[in-house]
Amino acid sequence: MLLHSFRELAMEIPLEIATQRGTALQTFTGYRIQHNHARGPFKGGLRFHPGVSAGEIRALAQLMTWKTALLDLPFGGAKGGITVDPAQLQRSELETLTKRFTQKLAPVLGVNVDIVAPDLNTGPQHMAWIFEEYSKLHGHCPGIATGKPLELGGSPGREEATGRGVAHIAARAARDNGVQVEGARVAIQGFGNVGSHTARRLTELGVRLVAVSDVRGGVFCDAGIDVDAALAHVRETGSLHGLPGSDAVTNQELLMLPVELLIPAALEGTVNCTNVAGVRAKLLIEAANMPVTHMADDALRDAGVRVIPDILANAGGVVASYFEWVQNIQQFPWPREQVLDQMERRLEQAYEQTHAQSLSTHVDLRRAAYLIAVDRTLRAMELRGF
Ligand code: NAD
Repeated sequence: MLLHSFRELAMEIPLEIATQRGTALQTFTGYRIQHNHARGPFKGGLRFHPGVSAGEIRALAQLMTWKTALLDLPFGGAKGGITVDPAQLQRSELETLTKRFTQKLAPVLGVNVDIVAPDLNTGPQHMAWIFEEYSKLHGHCPGIATGKPLELGGSPGREEATGRGVAHIAARAARDNGVQVEGARVAIQGFGNVGSHTARRLTELGVRLVAVSDVRGGVFCDAGIDVDAALAHVRETGSLHGLPGSDAVTNQELLMLPVELLIPAALEGTVNCTNVAGVRAKLLIEAANMPVTHMADDALRDAGVRVIPDILANAGGVVASYFEWVQNIQQFPWPREQVLDQMERRLEQAYEQTHAQSLSTHVDLRRAAYLIAVDRTLRAMELRGF
């Protein structure tokens, strides 16, 4: 039962798009895969990316089941997405695509059924469109999506929660593994929501950001990269390329830099059998979902690189999403400090439990995290008589 999804929905979404010669009708494939709901409503993000496939969404949906269970949130796991390159669409086309996707998805969504969130290439605006479309059918329903704009019931602290949580766990793991946080070097692949907020928080904690990259490539500066300057450069030029005071590095070179902390925060499968031998970091913190392949994970363990697994490292986002859902249901907003403090406390607790499990059963942190999460999920399934 755990190997299979509870429900898988695939759909074709027709959309008239503008072309150089007028308009053309194109169809896009959308998915929502609900893995397990033994512990509560399905919960998981939506990604818009050309590489989205049923297999990828299925794996990510399962990962959400383990993540919510490890953090002891009253949710199950789901994931969704559309196979699309959003950079090729105009804003109005993206809005129509998102709303048509929501219409088709609506029968299997619900505040107590399945709650969506942002992921790759989606953000507060997409959640606002989903909220609007779903509310047309069911009345005012902010709890249907988390990661919404603040004006529509979004939670303060949600936007930075994932990156902030990654930084918190990275600093904690560094200390536990004999790495001094102040002055430690970090390389981060991906400079979107997760990568940029991780970079900001880590530099606030005294870590030196020596390299960072996006889809077009990366930049390196041994003296440390200023996060605000890098963000401003991306806003002005569209990429990190040519950041004053930095040298160019490729995404592959970034993974092999001599750093204490390596943080993949872009796509899955980044560290794989083709490049794992070159990784020189002491700790690898999985900010992205599944950034290390199975084979590479074994190789890292053999090489003595400590890996902090995704379901622990990047869980700050879903914890803050849970707080947003609670605030929406109660119609009672919390201040930002409360969201971030309680998020860090929950992460800390999950870290302690995973660490203790790892010591008592002599397994690495990933296996320890899975042991806890699978056990909690199975217990709920047994109790409910699944
Ligand atoms: P995002 O779209 O905001 O940013 C993605 C970043 O990765 C961008 O800088 C992009 O340029 C870069 N990128 C894309 N393809 C790349 C490639 N081939 N090589 C190098 N860089 C590339 O997405 P995000 O929300 O920051 O999500 C990043 C990862 O974190 C994903 O794996 C996502 O599933 C995971 N995650 C996100 C959240 C969240 O709250 N946003 C929570 C948990 C996990």
